[in-house]
Amino acid sequence: MNIAFIGLGNMGGPMALNLQKAGHEVQAFDLSKPACDKWAEQGLSIAASAADAVRGAQAVISMLPASQHVESLYLGDTGLLAQLATGTLVIDCSTIAAASAQKVAQAAAARGLPCIDAPVSGGTGGAIAGTLTFMVGGDDAALALARPLLEKMGANIFHAGAAGAGQTAKICNNMLLGILMIGTSEALALGVANGLDPKVLSEIMRRSSGGNWALEKYNPMPGVMDNVPSSKGYAGGFGTDLMLKDLGLAQENAAAVKASTPLGGLARNLYAAHSLGGQGALDFSSVIQLLQKR
Ligand code: NAD
Repeated sequence: MNIAFIGLGNMGGPMALNLQKAGHEVQAFDLSKPACDKWAEQGLSIAASAADAVRGAQAVISMLPASQHVESLYLGDTGLLAQLATGTLVIDCSTIAAASAQKVAQAAAARGLPCIDAPVSGGTGGAIAGTLTFMVGGDDAALALARPLLEKMGANIFHAGAAGAGQTAKICNNMLLGILMIGTSEALALGVANGLDPKVLSEIMRRSSGGNWALEKYNPMPGVMDNVPSSKGYAGGFGTDLMLKDLGLAQENAAAVKASTPLGGLARNLYAAHSLGGQGALDFSSVIQLLQKR
């Protein structure tokens, strides 16, 4: 299949490469030249613009930072939806507001384009390994068309509901992730302040009732795990500012339905303080720095 892939960041680059390795013809594009150069070196074919990338494409996949990037890519007279042939499949994997995903889905439906929101979980490790979890919003027919492509990038595909439902599920998950990363950091910092070895403490908690994804796959304390952002100066991974965006979306959702999310609100404020301290571009697990003596 001819696929246009837009957004070659920490997640999009490896996802596009997995589609190409599976035998698809991928035309990729990113606004950042360094990102294009990096993935061209890995063998991806880079288009000169998003419009060039979608020429002749049967499917378009996007992996962009936030709602405004997705809306400006797809909507309006110069947006991609206006340029796609009827029947072209649209898959947005970015984490954005459910309302933005619904706007894109409605505009796609008006043009006869099957469309799903399919945000992901699993981190950059999951993107590289092709083991992401997809949380899909949209109708059954569009998901059926997308499934063979999603299966090349992920190991789990969940149909959360109608357009926007994938985003709602993703925001619930990331609110929990944001909270548990801070809780894990707090516990590790407490143990280390009392003289414990962080590796030993991590293993004790991982196998005890405090066990969680951060301890399994993404330990925030440098040196405990290889190949995670904390052991690489918090480079790459999932940026603090992206986590801050997701926790903001969770708070907006909560306000809209009058839900009580006190820990989600506190977590958002802690990541905001970390970002204000100049660490917004570091991986979100660097939030442990707020809780440690320096
Ligand atoms: P990133 O910042 O590394 O990459 C985003 C890329 O999009 C950048 O290279 C940027 O230049 C490009 N871009 C922005 N606007 C563009 C446009 N109009 N056209 C073309 N390219 C454009 O972000 P990421 O970590 O890859 O995350 C992407 C999305 O996935 C975000 O919504 C994030 O919340 C979500 N996500 C990230 C992770 C993770 O672990 N990094 C995990 C799950 C979900």
